[in-house]
Amino acid sequence: MNADDLLAALREILDPSQINTDPDALYDASADRYKKYAKARKVLDVPAPVAIVYPASAAEVSRLLVMCNEHGVNVIPRAGKTATEGGLENWKDVTVVIDTLRLDQIIKIDPYNMQATVQAGVALQDLEDKLRAMGLTTGHSPQSKPVAKFGGLVATRSIGQFSTLYGGIEDMVVGLECVFPDGHISRIKNVPRRAGGPDIRHIAIGSEGTLCYITEVTVKLFRYFGENHKFYGYLVKDVESGIRVLREVMVNGYRPSVARVYSEEDARQHFSRWHRDQCVLLFMVEGNANIVEATCKGIEESVEAHADAILAVVGSHLIEDWFNHLNWSQKDIDDEFVGMVESDHHAGFTTEISADWETIPRIYDNVMRRIRSEFPRAEDLTMLGGHSSHSYINGTNMYFVYNYAINCAPEDELRVYHHPLQTIIVEETLRLGGSMCHHHGIGKYRSEWMHAEHGSATYMLDKLKSAFDPNGIMNYGTIFPQEEAVRRFVR
Ligand SMILES: Cc1cc2nc3c(=O)[nH]c(=O)nc-3n(C[C@H](O)[C@H](O)[C@H](O)COP(=O)(O)OP(=O)(O)OC[C@H]3O[C@@H](n4cnc5c(N)ncnc54)[C@H](O)[C@@H]3O)c2cc1C
Repeated sequence: MNADDLLAALREILDPSQINTDPDALYDASADRYKKYAKARKVLDVPAPVAIVYPASAAEVSRLLVMCNEHGVNVIPRAGKTATEGGLENWKDVTVVIDTLRLDQIIKIDPYNMQATVQAGVALQDLEDKLRAMGLTTGHSPQSKPVAKFGGLVATRSIGQFSTLYGGIEDMVVGLECVFPDGHISRIKNVPRRAGGPDIRHIAIGSEGTLCYITEVTVKLFRYFGENHKFYGYLVKDVESGIRVLREVMVNGYRPSVARVYSEEDARQHFSRWHRDQCVLLFMVEGNANIVEATCKGIEESVEAHADAILAVVGSHLIEDWFNHLNWSQKDIDDEFVGMVESDHHAGFTTEISADWETIPRIYDNVMRRIRSEFPRAEDLTMLGGHSSHSYINGTNMYFVYNYAINCAPEDELRVYHHPLQTIIVEETLRLGGSMCHHHGIGKYRSEWMHAEHGSATYMLDKLKSAFDPNGIMNYGTIFPQEEAVRRFVR
């Protein structure tokens, strides 16, 4: 099917007001934040989609997918547009972006059964604002909360800043509705737990638009005790000793909502007024007063048990103040983009990985050493560091952060800087047995390591793909590697 035929077919399914072919919107839809610099400089090397469409019901999504499936049209599902790993980037000439804009209803807030049901285009912030007014919360708070929407949050298996208490989105989703390429609409019912076979929610959660289109989500709710929040901050000797304190807290069964360790370099950019060139350890505690009291005691005891690692105590108001300004609004995202359009020759990116407690410090040290000694443009780095921000009983994550001055043509930035840096982080993580991807999704830019990540279990993922998307129309190049396209758009 060519572009004209696709537009004609879309017009048979949707009202003209639901079809967007504005060239600026299509350019914006051709890539996400992995290529944010090239995008801002107008040098993107990928094709634009033919149209962005805005279905208003699962039935309309179904009709769209049936048509695309029949004619081999690539489909990119889209929600809040905050993707960072190429999940929204287009690698096919004939593509339609199916956007959640008109799936924007909060269907039900049920405070007695502690769950809320929303359509996939509801922004997390909008639900959260309504819930807070009722003394409730989803507990989900990614930094992109003001912009990200439920379809994307579920499809990327996102995680929020309070994850140590509430978990990731996979711990919050009760049930959902999704549409498959053959047009079938599946609803997964909302029950507290069931042992009715494999957990089919996970076919949609984390699928990054490669298996189905998510139209509706039901999440758990929690009581919100804003008045009980407590904050702790410390300067610590090094990343490894900070991680040892995190471990002490976690293995003793305490669940602060936030537990983080920042490297010296990362602390410098976050806590410029008081970091004193040291690593920073911090905690936030929330919830019912009795639990808060016990958790605070547990943190104090854990810190005491590692007193040799602690260099100074930081005032809790400094941590609280910092937290209140951490989220990114749409304006922050737009301002960064305008900065890159107008004058900036500088960019910053992140890569997030996870591993067990004993492996994480080794990955961190090896990555730092390899980048400093092997990366040919190491002298252009203006910041290289990281932080651990999501902890579990058996390990934690590491969020590598790297900023650099761009001394090459804008179209070469990805190949000269961003991708080689991400490659070192991914290679080192996989070599030591960690996961190359903690919460941003595989997208298109980590798909080349999919087999290395999953090993013999790749079989299970490949079977899901061939069963649910046999014609390969869902988000070509995302998660499932396409060697020819990787050579063309990545290398
Ligand atoms: C400033 C900033 C801060 C961030 N902080 C965090 C953080 O703290 N934690 C975190 O986990 N992530 C974070 N991210 C990454 C990003 O916000 C998350 O991945 C988020 O879940 C994406 O949601 P979205 O609505 O923007 O989805 P989009 O960007 O629109 O899409 C993301 C992926 O989901 C797929 N998708 C979208 N909608 C659907 C649907 N309806 N059905 C099926 N597939 C769909 C897309 O095809 C794509 O692959 C951050 C990003 C930015 C820019």
